[in-house]
Amino acid sequence: MDVLRLFGSEERDFSHSFVRSGKKFINVIECGGKSRTFCDEWDATDELEFRRCAKRSAKLAFYTYLAEESGKSFPWGALTGIRPTKMAYAELAAGRDFAPLFKKFCVCEANIDIVGRVISAQRGIYSANFGCGEDIFVGLPFCPTKCRYCSFITAPFSAVQRYVDEYLDCLVEEIESLKPVVTRVNSVYIGGGTPFCLSAEQLGRVYEAINALPVNGAEYTVEAGRPDTFTEEKLSVTAAAGVNRICVNPQSFSDATLAAIGRSHTAEDTFRAYEMASKYPFDINIDLIAGLGQERLADFERSLSAAVSLSPANITVHSLCLKSGSKLKESVARLNVSDIGEMLLLSREMLSSAGYEPYYLYRQKYQAGAGENVGWCRPGKACAYNIGTMEEICSNIAVGAGAISKRVFGGGERIERCASPKDIPSYIGRHEEMIKRRLALFSQ
Ligand code: SF4
Repeated sequence: MDVLRLFGSEERDFSHSFVRSGKKFINVIECGGKSRTFCDEWDATDELEFRRCAKRSAKLAFYTYLAEESGKSFPWGALTGIRPTKMAYAELAAGRDFAPLFKKFCVCEANIDIVGRVISAQRGIYSANFGCGEDIFVGLPFCPTKCRYCSFITAPFSAVQRYVDEYLDCLVEEIESLKPVVTRVNSVYIGGGTPFCLSAEQLGRVYEAINALPVNGAEYTVEAGRPDTFTEEKLSVTAAAGVNRICVNPQSFSDATLAAIGRSHTAEDTFRAYEMASKYPFDINIDLIAGLGQERLADFERSLSAAVSLSPANITVHSLCLKSGSKLKESVARLNVSDIGEMLLLSREMLSSAGYEPYYLYRQKYQAGAGENVGWCRPGKACAYNIGTMEEICSNIAVGAGAISKRVFGGGERIERCASPKDIPSYIGRHEEMIKRRLALFSQ
């Protein structure tokens, strides 16, 4: 289905059969009375490997069928997983170069190159945190208003304001409950929403609870969020708590785009928030999204230039993702998908020239143009939390509404999960149950 969705063919009727003959995997695809046979070779030494190869072979057959029929191709070819780097790491762990497998999947050279660059940039953090310690995620799913492209659980602040204090009571209780299961904290990430939606005092409550855990010396991020929520008081409380990484997330530097996506801030607010934050010893990340509003390549180039002019430690370039739940979903037909591909290529050129290196990469379902999201960093400024989460090399203990804890065994051989309710009233009602379930997961 993932491959069919790429080509917009998910409503068509196909029949598919598969047979294996030694190393040969044979897929027969029939559609509209026509039948085609695809044959390729895979080394599968055990049942698990066989199932993986059979799935890959079928995906490749469907991709080849549809690419030939439509004349279209995609930069990630038949690779539809959200973590291409994990696949590359698996090949490297088996003593093989990952490029031949990616080529077999019709991945373009530029994407094979960027995966190699990401793996190089991750080297130190990847080996230091592989199978060791844990990342801690604390969720604050509040935002001033809902952006039109957003499918996240967040609700406009005015609709959930009455729950905030009770939510924080539950959150603090959850954080305190982590003491027996924390071993070595690799990183802490307070994510949103827009955590800076809260007051300085409310943020202080969260920091105080976190700082009672053994977090000294760990990377400590607050995804502060939208520029119009920044104040001196919040930044000062945040710095005093030991936070060393902060995110200013404008998504675009075009005022017309910001208005079109339902934001109430301007590019000027972003410059102001950045200047305020840069007085403190934070590494700053700026998030941008390719494909917002009616933006064309030149608009996105202006946003990239503006972000680079500020010289932050990190710039993260997302490509627009249109999941159900976002108001923008219905206008997908108006998107110029080929522009998004060019925007992503331009970001690679401009950020590489400005001295940034790609250090994590992931993809999402429903991403316009079948693109990717890439985190870029100045040398030595990679975010350990993003690497740990995307590569799933260490456990992630997550608290708050919608948070998903992951117990990672053996650097990723096996992963067990525990998810909290997404909506805030359900989370408040069930947070004690979540504490018990999380303790059971991490006490095994
Ligand atoms: S700031 Fe982020 S989480 Fe909040 S509404 Fe916008 S996209 Fe959604």
